[in-house]
Amino acid sequence: MPTYHALALFSGGLDSILAAKLMQSLGHNVLGLHFSSPFFGHPQRISAWEQEYSLPIIPIDIGQDFVDLLAAFPPHGFGKVLNPCVDCKIHMLRRAKELLPAFGASYIISGEVLGQRPMSQRADTLHIIRNKAQVRDLLLRPLSAGLLPPTPMEESGLVDRSELFSIAGRSRTQQYALAQSLGITTIPAQAGGCRLGERESVRRYWPILQAICEPRVDDFDLANAGRQLWRMHNSRPQHWLVIGRDNTDNERLLPLTRPDDYIFMLADFPGPLALARPTRDAWPIALVQEAASCVVSFAPKARKAGSPVQVIVRHNNKEWPLWVPPPFAHNFAEPPAWAQTRECIRAKTKELSQSVCSKTCMQTDTQE
Ligand code: SF4
Repeated sequence: MPTYHALALFSGGLDSILAAKLMQSLGHNVLGLHFSSPFFGHPQRISAWEQEYSLPIIPIDIGQDFVDLLAAFPPHGFGKVLNPCVDCKIHMLRRAKELLPAFGASYIISGEVLGQRPMSQRADTLHIIRNKAQVRDLLLRPLSAGLLPPTPMEESGLVDRSELFSIAGRSRTQQYALAQSLGITTIPAQAGGCRLGERESVRRYWPILQAICEPRVDDFDLANAGRQLWRMHNSRPQHWLVIGRDNTDNERLLPLTRPDDYIFMLADFPGPLALARPTRDAWPIALVQEAASCVVSFAPKARKAGSPVQVIVRHNNKEWPLWVPPPFAHNFAEPPAWAQTRECIRAKTKELSQSVCSKTCMQTDTQE
């Protein structure tokens, strides 16, 4: 296995590219680590990045760790939406530290810029991240190094501090100049890319965290696909149904199916494919019937026929037909609007900060 001087957190954003390429230009052998989860990361772009930036990069899947972090409520809280940036950075740095010996590397590079982001890149937060990740003597932030205390890498002469930068704040002017001097011509779009910072995505995720005590990565993969519908019980999301909005969605849903999921397909009309995932127990037949009704309500031709519609249901490797009569009534609905979701997140945050329980899940023992 090749060895490297340093491992660099490589998100594919401009700052991560600049930090890795700057150290490479100073003669350091750098390996990029690209972290991915259902919420962020583009491992399929790695080979294009390797060619574009002449930098070796490996994928690191932290999906389940990240899901566990969300479900257990991140100790440093969320940013503006559901983005636990401080704990996310701590987690990535810890993983990078664990990987150092395997690659013979002696330090970690991060593209953080002092003051660029309100939550995770304030001076005090950078300090917390470095200490909590236990990378105090291993972490180099080359873009803002001149504004931060010297690291052991600089003090020992391994890295020439005078070659590092003193960038701070939200302006990108200095980054563009540095990119030009490093010969980087492909500049990625600014920020974005993390679904936990997007309100519409979080409307999809929050019901899962409320309804499932130990969610899995493929729950969030499912939340990223199709039209999300929930049936509430005592004002809490309880029964989950995902309906394909088009053929692309339908094709995405099938590979995400677990044996105990319910699959719904219309027998005689064009219509969506739908997947229902029990959050705890198997569904009673009345609920399966209601979900089938809901699926038909999204099939205009079947709805207009005005007569009972046959729906094929698949569950635990069994398949059976179900006749659904008009008017195709149901109580499934899209997750609450962002304002309501935000209030719910805030209330849960407050409740958890005052309690010994540290689970976002609101599941109770009684189910409908
Ligand atoms: S925006 Fe997303 S990927 Fe980036 S630090 Fe925050 S939680 Fe992590």
